[in-house]
Amino acid sequence: MAKNRRNDPCWCGSGGKYKNCHLRRSDEPPLPFAAIASQARNAAAFRTCLHPDAGRDTCGKVISAHTIQRSRVLSAIADRENHVLTFYPPKPKLDGGLILQRRGWRQSSTFTAFCNKHDTEAFAPLEAVPFTGTKEQIFLTAYRATCWELHQKRRATLASPAVRRLIDRGQPVLVQQRIQSALAVQEAGFGKGLSELSQLKEQMDAALVSGEYDAFDTLELALEGALGIASTGVITPNQTMRGKHIQTLHDDSTLMQWLAFGLDIRDHRPVFLFCWDKAHDAPRAYLDEILALDPRARATFLVQFVFAHCENTYFSDAWWVGLSDAERRYLESLMANSNPYYYPPHYDLGRQDLAPWKSADAVPSSASA
Ligand SMILES: [Zn+2]
Ligand SMILES: [Zn+2]
Repeated sequence: MAKNRRNDPCWCGSGGKYKNCHLRRSDEPPLPFAAIASQARNAAAFRTCLHPDAGRDTCGKVISAHTIQRSRVLSAIADRENHVLTFYPPKPKLDGGLILQRRGWRQSSTFTAFCNKHDTEAFAPLEAVPFTGTKEQIFLTAYRATCWELHQKRRATLASPAVRRLIDRGQPVLVQQRIQSALAVQEAGFGKGLSELSQLKEQMDAALVSGEYDAFDTLELALEGALGIASTGVITPNQTMRGKHIQTLHDDSTLMQWLAFGLDIRDHRPVFLFCWDKAHDAPRAYLDEILALDPRARATFLVQFVFAHCENTYFSDAWWVGLSDAERRYLESLMANSNPYYYPPHYDLGRQDLAPWKSADAVPSSASA
């Protein structure tokens, strides 16, 4: 690497001058993780309304909107004091695990990505009436999950420069270079993910506005017993549960294939919901393996799937304390894996006492199949 001069742009790509960026980075006192995380959160504070009709004249006040239905779903996992358990936001422990957090259900699963008017309007079919498994309801579950993922990607993009400014303080130059180049790769990934999610959101916006959901397929898996866990998100499955390759991620020549999921309650029973693009074969291949499982294996797989793939996950104290230490450690380790696409989880389907629910024998087929 050529020697940097004080007024040259810094080698790290921050856009700042070398003298103001990395010149004295080795001499700066290192910061504890909590301080870096707190500055990253401040940089990522971002309020917007993601509704397709959003605008200065059409929006109300941006609120902390729920990504998970509150009065039916979150309330079903809350304890007597209306608290739920979560590993979100992730706070690492020294042993590589994550700190378990207890949170009021009203503050859980929220994001500042809808105004009060559009939140009420768009999600009325989920919020104002019971869940009956209509295609519109499953689509809206997926739509809200997509908005959450998009908002998270935007926040990560906003936080990245703050992290890069703080994380390598006090490190030798060679370590700084290694850290910065790893973060540059991660940032490029955020950019790609953001543009792919924006395209998906546009496709879903059109369906939201027209009320036509023909482009999407849905699947509802009936469960029995307690809900215990609430979660929603969007994954981009690159391999199936058994390790079969189904798509190459971050391939510029093709569109990412996605699979949205969520949980709800229908007639007092938990249901696990999936939604995907009808034209895509990766999500279908992923689900085929799940459908082929026997009900006991499927019940435990769904729990492990949620912990492996989604930090936007909340669960009941009653279920969690009933697990053995080994089971809790196992789920925590699934959650602590920050990249299940690069490091595919090894699902242990023998752990059949894990699930708060049982899987019903009959699997209802897709509403549109
Ligand atoms: Zn720099
Ligand atoms: Zn709005």
